Amino acid sequence: MNERMTQHDTLQRFLFDGAPVRGALVRLDGAWQQVLSRRAYPQPLKTILGEMMAASVLMAANLKFDGTLILQLHGSGALKLAVVECNNDRTVRATAKWEGELPDVSVRELLGQGGKFVLTLEPRLDKSQTWQGIVALEGDSIGAMLENYMLRSEQLETSLVLASSDAAAAGMLLQRLPEGHGEADGWPRIQMLGRTLRADELLTLDAQDILHRLFHEEQVMVFEREAVSFNCNCSRERVANMLTMLGGQEVGDVLLEQGSVEIVCDYCNQHYVFDEDDANELFEFDVVAAAREARH
Ligand SMILES: [Zn+2]
Repeated sequence: MNERMTQHDTLQRFLFDGAPVRGALVRLDGAWQQVLSRRAYPQPLKTILGEMMAASVLMAANLKFDGTLILQLHGSGALKLAVVECNNDRTVRATAKWEGELPDVSVRELLGQGGKFVLTLEPRLDKSQTWQGIVALEGDSIGAMLENYMLRSEQLETSLVLASSDAAAAGMLLQRLPEGHGEADGWPRIQMLGRTLRADELLTLDAQDILHRLFHEEQVMVFEREAVSFNCNCSRERVANMLTMLGGQEVGDVLLEQGSVEIVCDYCNQHYVFDEDDANELFEFDVVAAAREARH
């Protein structure tokens, strides 16, 4: 197998020796195809979702956190919802909801009045420790909004270059560290070099080639490459929990009308079907009888 093929779906973190700056490059090919194969996303949304997915991996890259980083756009315009998740084991998934045609306009315009961009850190074990931040819809792109956010809320000067095509979703993050070795004022130079990275390079070149092209005059320490993959953690058990929260009578109503309860995962299209026996077992009573009773 071609050695370069193995570099797809990878995260490459790096650190500058001559300045207190760290960075990461991500390129998602197969994982991105998994997302695209499940829904026919309109072009402007494909771009947004791909950029969000690359950004989620880059932002999760330096977090020491056992859980999930979630980026969510909520809108009242043509775009209703876009969600990407990146887990600390470097697995990703994404989904979106929209209505009608999506014009080729800015993210903010697509979201309409009251649009929101939310960043969530959800611990794997203790969900009560879930943390949410609001990303201001300032800037023309997902990258610009997240750069503003990192500066304001984390006091971290960050540069994010993101790109997405039908073939790949990719990005590069550069971040000035509060302290570190090397020349303290090396940041503007490294940031400027980073800004020369073009979308087509980001989407097609391997990490080592990008680093060479941008920073061949810098000392860059490269960490081991990490694999990123698509994975949906939905399960029959989780769907059952959701039905339990809905309540036996509600579920009985659906069974009366449709014969079975069918839930489709928004992220991976997996179908989960619960028939009357399954539901009765779940609730430990005759849910259809309860629904009939309630109708009288
Ligand atoms: Zn799923």
